[in-house]
Amino acid sequence: MLDSLTLNKKSIEIIYKTLCEFHEKYLISFGVKLPKLYDSKGKFTKDALVLVYLAYDYPNTRKVSKEELTKFIRGYYPNTNDVQQARHLGAQAGWWIVAGGRDNIVLKVERGSYQLYTLEQPYPGFKNGHRISETDNWEEIKEAYNFRCATCGSQENKPHFHWPATKTILQKGHMNPNKPLINGNIIPQCQKCNRADRNRWVYDEKGRVIKLADGNFVKNFDKEVREVIYRVLYKEFKGKNPYAK
Ligand SMILES: [Zn+2]
Repeated sequence: MLDSLTLNKKSIEIIYKTLCEFHEKYLISFGVKLPKLYDSKGKFTKDALVLVYLAYDYPNTRKVSKEELTKFIRGYYPNTNDVQQARHLGAQAGWWIVAGGRDNIVLKVERGSYQLYTLEQPYPGFKNGHRISETDNWEEIKEAYNFRCATCGSQENKPHFHWPATKTILQKGHMNPNKPLINGNIIPQCQKCNRADRNRWVYDEKGRVIKLADGNFVKNFDKEVREVIYRVLYKEFKGKNPYAK
């Protein structure tokens, strides 16, 4: 079992050429970006090095630990502490690189390791190189969510997941109800998840509640939680009313 690969300049260029061919044929149309092999000073870029290392012997790729990847990158960038590129090249840039964890669908990869799964499809859910928050085209937004409510997953015009007798209708939901319903603040939500009481919450792109939008809702919290909040705020405002002169 290999614990690290030695790749010379020539092999790096050959693997990169393979990446170019697959990228051109299968990935470019999805907006997946191929990192440049060289920077302006003629040095290999970190992104390209990581991709090349993971693509070694494609399609017979192997699991690569972050330590191994870091060791390889240090051959070119001696001051590298921690290689983050593999994760970024995956979900964000669209290369189907499996990052370790127990809940992966296609490959079993331990936490802290990576494996390139395929060069013939982009990372699942990757859409045309831009985050969905950059558009206000309603049809495009719904399509990016597979015509489902971002919060509960109920599908448009199908029976609602929690209320099967109700037909799911998708509406433009605010991510943050305190901001206008424009680019970057729209998620599709069903008529159940997009009700008036949702003005209490701020949601992320995945339809998950991430914070309170209405501070008054703190009144509904359990006493223990309110006490914690009080302690936090007491400390922040040094026990003084922030509005007192
Ligand atoms: Zn819903």
